Amino acid sequence: MTFSDLGIAPTILRALEAAGYQNPTAVQAEAVPAAIAGRDLLVSAQTGSGKTAAFLLPALTKLSERSTAKGQGPRVLVLTPTRELAQQVEKNALEYGKDLRWMKTACLVGGSSFGYQIRALSRPIDLIVATPGRLMDHMRSGRIDFSRLEMLVLDEADRMLDMGFIEDIEAIVKATPESRQTVLFSATLDGIVGRMAEKMTRDPQRIEIARTETSGGTIEEHLLYADDLNHKHRLLDYILKESGFDQCVIFSATKAYSEELADKLSDQGYSAACLHGDMPQSWRNRTLNDLRRGRIKVLVATDVAARGIDVPTITHVVNFDLPKQAEDYVHRIGRTGRAGRDGTAITLAESKEFHKVRRIEQYLKRQITEGVIDGLEPTRRPPKGPRRNGKPGGYGDRRGSGGNRGGYQGNRREGGYQGQRREGGYQGNRGPRSNAQ
Ligand code: AMP
Repeated sequence: MTFSDLGIAPTILRALEAAGYQNPTAVQAEAVPAAIAGRDLLVSAQTGSGKTAAFLLPALTKLSERSTAKGQGPRVLVLTPTRELAQQVEKNALEYGKDLRWMKTACLVGGSSFGYQIRALSRPIDLIVATPGRLMDHMRSGRIDFSRLEMLVLDEADRMLDMGFIEDIEAIVKATPESRQTVLFSATLDGIVGRMAEKMTRDPQRIEIARTETSGGTIEEHLLYADDLNHKHRLLDYILKESGFDQCVIFSATKAYSEELADKLSDQGYSAACLHGDMPQSWRNRTLNDLRRGRIKVLVATDVAARGIDVPTITHVVNFDLPKQAEDYVHRIGRTGRAGRDGTAITLAESKEFHKVRRIEQYLKRQITEGVIDGLEPTRRPPKGPRRNGKPGGYGDRRGSGGNRGGYQGNRREGGYQGQRREGGYQGNRGPRSNAQ
């Protein structure tokens, strides 16, 4: 299957070629032709599956033909849960639509100046990417004319509901023409998301892409148990010193702790910064740019701020704290292994948090293989449970099958862990340079 089989406009095909995309991902192969044919879609696909292009390519194909409708409001509206994701989507739209020279886009998110957004809305506009709250602000002021809207996309719909946007979404949907095409992407289509989706679509085609599918490389996952916070810090020190990461995103449960941890790592000599939802938007943007340019090597982030981070040089993700919701685990680790590269995701958990780990594993429908680092083993072990690590005895056999004492031993998933092992220490994917800068 190639992109030219999918019905995408030739101008956009050229841009895809320039972007280096060779073949559509699974979600693109299914969703793009159906959306171009005008179907409403309910798609369950994870971040990293290529879902952004799966809705942008049909949207841009629509925009490649001029509208005959009156009015100057948007023809395509994409709603996303977070500011960073909205910006990323607009960036991708400009990349894939670089030859649609007349195309005007706007990104309407909180934390940015109203002035620029109001100016963008006072002219004819083709595509708006927005977070629901800020879009509602503009709608209340009568600045948005949805009369010629052709396509509504809800990206990461489950997350928007988790963030309490349901009323805003309902109001936005109600303000758009009934004739619109609706395309909804969500990690899950169960429960409340599914019910909302059914209400706002007409005879939708359901597309379910397996959870493990990624357009990128393999993500090696490891789980390390710790006794307490201090122990977690020692494990983190070890990982940062020994893993040979290029860039690393560390997830913290709270905004305050993300700041504290970023300060601590800066004091240790890493070029570290934090990213969380309470930071002013201009600062969040600057931090992300610095990450993209490689000026920041270690980013300590909370879940909200981490959405939309798409930086191929992130080699490692460390869950310093467990995510509150199981599906966030998938989003977090999807910050690495992007654009065809491999990545490593290491999750730290206190032994008493084993039930939270189990919940994540139930969601994943697989186990995250537990490892230990010599000299940094937990003294308390999680109780034996249904988890078996494929062997009788479960946790009792945490060192894997190699019998190689010395060194970190995570197990492998899909394609294998690339780091070599040796006596006496963790060896992750060691990069060519030291990162303690
Ligand atoms: P997403 O799931 O939309 O967050 O996309 C994940 C990553 O895959 C992004 O870095 C995209 O630029 C990249 N990507 C999307 N589609 C393709 C493709 N067909 N071939 C190669 N890379 C892709």
